[in-house]
Amino acid sequence: MLKDTFGQLVFNDAVMASRLPRETYEEYLRCLNTDAELSPEAADVIANAMKDWALEKGATHFTHWFQPMTGVTAEKHEGFIAPVAGGGVLTEFSGKELIKGEPDASSFPSGGLRATFEARGYTNWDPSSYAFIKDGVLCIPTAFCSYTGEALDKKTPLLRSMEAIDKEAKRLLKALGITDVKKIYTTVGAEQEYFLIAKEDFEKRKDLRFTGRTLFGARPPKGQDLEDHYFGPVKPRVAAYMRELDEELWRLGVPAKTRHNETAPSQHESAPVFETANIATDHNQLTMEVMKRVAAKHGLVCLLHEKPFAGVSGSGKHNNWSLSTDTGVNLLSPGPNPYTNTRFLLFLAAVIKGVDEYGDLMRISIASAGNDHRLGGHEAPPAIVSLFLGDDLTEMLKCIAENRPYASVGGAKIETGVHILPRFEKDTSDRNRTSPFAFTGNKFEFRMPGASMSVSDPTLILNTIVADALQGFAEEIENSRDISAAVKKLISDTVSEHGKVIFNGNNYSSDWIAEAEKRGLPNYKNTAEALPHLTDEKNIGLFVRHGIFTASELHSRREIYLENYCKTVSIEALTMLDMARQEILPAIAKYAGALAAAGKDIAASGAESPLKKDLEHLCKLYRDGSERVENLENALFAAHARGFGQAAARLYAEQVLGAMRDLRVVADEAELSVAADYWPFPAYDKILFDVN
Ligand code: ADP
Ligand code: MG
Repeated sequence: MLKDTFGQLVFNDAVMASRLPRETYEEYLRCLNTDAELSPEAADVIANAMKDWALEKGATHFTHWFQPMTGVTAEKHEGFIAPVAGGGVLTEFSGKELIKGEPDASSFPSGGLRATFEARGYTNWDPSSYAFIKDGVLCIPTAFCSYTGEALDKKTPLLRSMEAIDKEAKRLLKALGITDVKKIYTTVGAEQEYFLIAKEDFEKRKDLRFTGRTLFGARPPKGQDLEDHYFGPVKPRVAAYMRELDEELWRLGVPAKTRHNETAPSQHESAPVFETANIATDHNQLTMEVMKRVAAKHGLVCLLHEKPFAGVSGSGKHNNWSLSTDTGVNLLSPGPNPYTNTRFLLFLAAVIKGVDEYGDLMRISIASAGNDHRLGGHEAPPAIVSLFLGDDLTEMLKCIAENRPYASVGGAKIETGVHILPRFEKDTSDRNRTSPFAFTGNKFEFRMPGASMSVSDPTLILNTIVADALQGFAEEIENSRDISAAVKKLISDTVSEHGKVIFNGNNYSSDWIAEAEKRGLPNYKNTAEALPHLTDEKNIGLFVRHGIFTASELHSRREIYLENYCKTVSIEALTMLDMARQEILPAIAKYAGALAAAGKDIAASGAESPLKKDLEHLCKLYRDGSERVENLENALFAAHARGFGQAAARLYAEQVLGAMRDLRVVADEAELSVAADYWPFPAYDKILFDVN
């Protein structure tokens, strides 16, 4: 039963409450909710209880489970055993081992932090995320930092940002006279899109195997044109996969809730119930891992790349984000009367201000080689950050700013014209599917993150930019004698200074791109353009102000991301060259040879050969193809010579990817000109419609 299996493999609150001595459990809770530190004695007791529990569940090893800058999780297993004299073994796990691990940091990207500091790295237990058992290994969620405490991972800055927004939001509430709130949590619900394809198709394509996306492939006669896949019935093989995926996730305590088909054929989505940002991030990492593992069991491969197939919808990861208090209040909930809800209005204004001032950081937080193919593509928001509020809320803010009375259009009933259907109230904001950052009733939905990335970066950016705005607001209110006048002024100022980031129209239209430029909103078209701005002076100032990153941590991240971008494109280019030379050009030659032979036979029979034109076309494709292979090779050579920095990234973005596009055009035309039997790997129509 679901109730019994959910969280079966998690050392969660209920397990701790039942297995820890009362005073240890209380000390643990105190540590979680206040600044108190856990005593070594309590750590020993918790470690021991964790070990006993894990052994009972069949675990043999433990690992500090962490999230280095590679974007995936890392683990190094340690057996629980300690040999004793006489040949026996003891099972052992101390508080010290629970709290601190020392993996060799030199194997993980550090972006220069390693050169200046020691290679040693520490993993540090994160007691706010429960330990769990995966494949017989007790996994302990941990942060990962250098010898001198600099963050080498994605968890540390996220935790710092959660503390920053907790601090500033509480300060603002206090200024408003709300004093019963002890803690404010960032909540996140990460909707995960993915493709599911047959393993046999995957195996036959080097591009999918090495890069996670197809680098070649002509458009199939039927793609997603009929829109018949979205929310359509789930095919049996996929249904079996989804069932097992959910069961595995539930055992691991991941609250997977919604599952359905997505827009493109073979594309699906899984969404959990939202949780505290840190846990939601851990759970999303776990979800991606389990998705891949369960797929393998079903003879399938789960693709998490942002754009596995050109011309077909890409996969994103909608990051639903909000703030909630320990007293159970969602701070972005408008309540029945938003117009007079000062708290809501101020938090909303803080988001607007943050997004306008630091939209560049939001853009940077989701920049990757994979996501570049998705942003601005089919069914995805463009790379310009704007904010959707809906006409109702926008009008309301304007009324406040302009001192006009406001009449809500909300609360209207939906009329379906069918009297047996119950009537329900309209939401005050309509869903705008095209906005990159949309207010959806009581949370914001950040739709730019790509399917394969950790939600840590986008979440920590949202936390930090909103914390910064909240800090400014709190100062204003603290220093004013008339709170309501100060609030009104803050809202009016926000609307007039930052209203330009609000856009309720169609973000996919070309008009918007021109309009955004007029409004002065940045439009960084690719990762190479976006990443260097991470260390703009204003951004360093922001992160340092709130203790999220030091300047050197930020520079190191910039280096890591740039290097990652260059390497990703380089691997793609090399894979393309390989496929073109070893598979595609030979296939064209072979088919041309077959046509030539057939032409000879026909000529020998005395009839006039009709094949000449096709043959000439194939020869031209071969010639163009090999020429473009050479161009790509040259572009790649030039990029390689520049290393991995900003200049190299630009070369990859402009020259290498350009040469890749050119080569692809010829190859895709060849695919349509060569007989299917001769084509060396499965085509789009087969891959996209193979799983039933
Ligand atoms: P969709 O956007 O697909 O229509 P929903 O809006 O119902 O779906 O929810 C999407 C995600 O938003 C879910 O993961 C849900 O748990 C999450 N969510 C709902 N409320 C909050 C909140 N207050 N904070 C963060 N995430 C939330
Ligand atoms: Mg959504």
